Amino acid sequence: MTDIKYALVTGGSRGIGRAISLKLAAMNYHVLINYRSNKPEAENTLKLIEAEGGKGELICFNVADPKEIGQVLGKWIDESQHTIEVLVNNAGINKDNLLLWMKAEEWSTIIDTNLNSFFYVTRLILKDMLANKYGRIINIVSLSGLKGMPGQVNYSAAKAGVIGATKALAQEVGKRKVTVNAVAPGFIKTDMTKDLPEKELKKLIPLNRFGEAEEVAEVVGFLASKASSYITGETISVNGGLYS
Ligand code: NAP
Repeated sequence: MTDIKYALVTGGSRGIGRAISLKLAAMNYHVLINYRSNKPEAENTLKLIEAEGGKGELICFNVADPKEIGQVLGKWIDESQHTIEVLVNNAGINKDNLLLWMKAEEWSTIIDTNLNSFFYVTRLILKDMLANKYGRIINIVSLSGLKGMPGQVNYSAAKAGVIGATKALAQEVGKRKVTVNAVAPGFIKTDMTKDLPEKELKKLIPLNRFGEAEEVAEVVGFLASKASSYITGETISVNGGLYS
């Protein structure tokens, strides 16, 4: 059926990616829920979507592995002949350490998973968006990529790289009505932040609390919608006022 609209959310199995998947499904997108290893949680995302009357499917690949992306996502695109209208580059990890002690692997894994993944996944999806003369690309970056965070030189560099790529790609594809934006969360309650001292850290946040994944998903939903048609190359912070 040609009238089904498709969206891909990388790292849709948990946390912010799950909330985004639910939001896009509620906007009538058939959501491709990407995950790397946690199939039960990816299935839970799909169950939650279906419980609300939405549609989706699981798609397992490692966003840091271009070969696997080609084999799985490339195959899906070729075989289904469907165009993905909304791409949310959300999958991400951190491996914190002071630069002085940082191992080469801690640097390269973070750059591969958070920055190179943007290139690997986006280049596969972009061609159809350009042909279709419509598309929404939304990159989940971080306060770390705007402000820089000590102990996260690798992660800050990767996220700042994606912010630069967002601005550059927006200028390449704007004429074809493809918009490219980024959303920069602060501290959001997910597995990634579960070991942080929330009581201490929330004192630094003007809104005095960690954010919810759904509060990030709302902004992504807006950027994915036609209502955001004149916004591109932008990074929107969702951080409770922590930094702007
Ligand atoms: P999370 O709860 O730890 O979930 C991470 C998600 O990414 C999972 O779905 C995971 O899949 C997937 N993933 C990780 N590595 C992957 C890979 N190589 N290939 C495919 N999928 C992969 O993280 P989160 O807090 O929701 O973070 C989502 C995004 O927001 C990330 O880009 C993160 O950097 C960013 N962010 C988060 C915060 C925060 O406070 N939480 C703040 C700023 C930015 P599996 O389930 O299969 O492992």
